Formats: sequence, structure tokens, C-alpha cells
Amino acid sequence: MTMTDAHPWSTSLFADLDVEVELDAPLGVHTWYAIGGKADALVRPRSEDALATLLRRCARNGVRVRTLGAGANLLVDDDGVDGVVIKLDAPCFQELRLNAEGAPGRAHVGGGRDLGKTIHETVRASLAGLEPLIGIPATVGGAVRMNAGGKYGAIGDVVESVGLVTPSGERRTYSKDAIGFSYRHTDLPAGTVTWAVLRLKPADTAALRVRLREISAYKASVQPLGDLSAGCMWKNPVIESTGQRVSAGKLIDEAGLKGTSVGGATVSMQHGNFITVRPGARATDVMELVERVGQEVLARTGVRLEREVVFWKRGQD
Ligand SMILES: Cc1cc2nc3c(=O)[nH]c(=O)nc-3n(C[C@H](O)[C@H](O)[C@H](O)COP(=O)(O)OP(=O)(O)OC[C@H]3O[C@@H](n4cnc5c(N)ncnc54)[C@H](O)[C@@H]3O)c2cc1C
Repeated sequence: MTMTDAHPWSTSLFADLDVEVELDAPLGVHTWYAIGGKADALVRPRSEDALATLLRRCARNGVRVRTLGAGANLLVDDDGVDGVVIKLDAPCFQELRLNAEGAPGRAHVGGGRDLGKTIHETVRASLAGLEPLIGIPATVGGAVRMNAGGKYGAIGDVVESVGLVTPSGERRTYSKDAIGFSYRHTDLPAGTVTWAVLRLKPADTAALRVRLREISAYKASVQPLGDLSAGCMWKNPVIESTGQRVSAGKLIDEAGLKGTSVGGATVSMQHGNFITVRPGARATDVMELVERVGQEVLARTGVRLEREVVFWKRGQD
């Protein structure tokens, strides 16, 4: 049986489109966990037109679509995922235009562009606003979708507008107010973020570089950056009685769960909110450990943790 026989829809969806297609594509290599199964099809559109047509055809044919960024907040199940996984690494999704439309400080950035690279380029151009995000592995589209950030700020602080192609292939623009950025969340509808316009401020490059070093040093001191992970597994919960957001890592630590393991997955000794894996671990090890930690924290503190890391499973959105 050929690959196309296994996924008969693939020819009718892609054959005439300007896309690169890999059938039965291993996804582990595209994620920071470096584990998990295959996508039925990994598709790299070479234009926004091709992306829009592809999304429309998938919707009409009932083929599930997922968008992959840098895979830094993602766990792919051992059985992989059905349907189409989109990766925006063609040049049209990697653009960076500084002082866009003649507006000083406005940056137009492709949704597939690497966030770290973009931070260094904007700092080099003496533009402030993205430096609080140094050390967060992401594409710009993935960072917008998750409103990535931390102690020093979030990407939503500097987003002016975002371009998104909907599952029915429509191109829409969302202003900051319509996006509704909140803690690790946006109100953006389903679809693929193809660009973002950022509003940055003139600043001194040397001072920004000092800031980059300070923030990087802080992150390295609190996060297990040498291990395979997807960053914080859970959102910091709000305690009902006080209305205060508390550290999920601290709750896990206080529950004595650091170092707990299932198979190749372990609650980091350095940061309780990180679940790290050994090479060869199974995604189900991580999922079982997440379940166990969540139940223990609930039993000991009464707090229900909400997962931040996205799990991709066959047959599920
Ligand atoms: C070592 C480490 C440290 C981290 N530290 C932080 C931190 O300090 N703060 C923080 O917020 N996060 C942190 N993270 C998590 C991660 O970096 C962020 O969540 C980041 O925003 C993920 O972006 P991504 O491009 O990798 O998205 P992915 O992980 O590829 O995808 C995550 C979700 O976004 C969706 N998505 C991705 N791209 C698009 C797109 N173009 N359009 C629409 N949807 C899209 C995916 O479908 C998925 O639902 C860390 C991760 C690691 C591994």
C-alpha cells in the first residue's frame, strides 16, 4: 500500500496547490519534547492563497487541521495525529518589516517567524518591547495564540493587530481589543495566525542588550533549560477565596511532588511546573504523570490545575 492509498483524501486536497507535502511525517523532530507519533500529512504552504484554499478544502472534506509553530508548548500523542498539520516555514510567513507603512516602531512580522530571532533583530534596530520575551521558544504565531510571556511582560502588550486565516479560508484582521489578550489566553477564533503587527518603541540598543542578559540569566536560574520539556505544564491558578493567582510550581512543590516519575517523564526537581522527559519517553508517560500530579494537587490543596501545554491526539480537536 502506498502512502496515498493510506490517505486517499490527500491527492484531491493538495495535488494542484503550491504546497510541500510530507505524508506520515514524524512530528517529534518538530517539538521541544522530541517525542510523539506522526501526522497523516505535514503540509507547508508556499503562499497565503495556498493556505486559504487548503483550509477551505479540508473544512469541506471533514479533514482535521492543526497549526504547528515551534512545537514548544505541545505534546503529540504516541499514535500521532489525523488529518493535516500546517507548518508556516515558507519565506512568505517569515517576513520582518521594520517601520512598516512608514510608521516608526511598527513591525510587521510573519506568523511562522522565529520569536527569538525577531527579538534580536528588533533590539539591533533599537526597538524595545519584545525583550521581555527572550528565552521563550516560539514562532510569532504560536506566541500570539498562547499570549506567551512571564514575569516581565507578554506578547499581547505589544501587538497592534493580527492576521488570521479561518478554517473556511477567509482572511481576517483582528485588532488588539478584539483579540482579548489575557493570561496565557486569547479570544482569537480557530484558524492560522499568518502575521502580526507589533508596536515597538525607540530605545538604546546597548541598554536593551543588558536587559536581554538579565532576563536570560533569571530564566536560566529558575527553569530546567537543559532538559526536554514544553515549558510550564500548567497555568498558575487563581485561588477562589482570595482572587489571587498563585504559582502552580509552588503548589506542586508543597505537595511534595517534585521528582515524581512515570516511565521516562519526571516532575523537574528545579521547577515543579516543568515535566521533563528522557529521550525515548512515551507521550503517554507525560499524560499519566500530568493526570497523577493534577489529582494529587487537587486532593491536597483543593485547587484544580488547568493545563497550559497543548496535547494533540488522534480524533480530538
Ligand atoms: C524551555 C521552555 C521555556 C518556556 N518558557 C515559557 C515562558 O516563559 N512563557 C510562556 O508563555 N511560554 C513558555 N514556554 C512555552 C512556549 O514557548 C510558548 O507557549 C510559545 O508561545 C509556543 O509557541 P510555538 O510556536 O512553539 O507554538 P506550538 O507549541 O507549536 O503550538 C502551541 C499552540 O499554538 C497553536 N499555534 C502555533 N502556531 C500557530 C499559528 N501560526 N496560528 C494559530 N495557532 C498556532 C498550536 O496549534 C497549538 O495549539 C516555554 C517552552 C519551553 C520549551
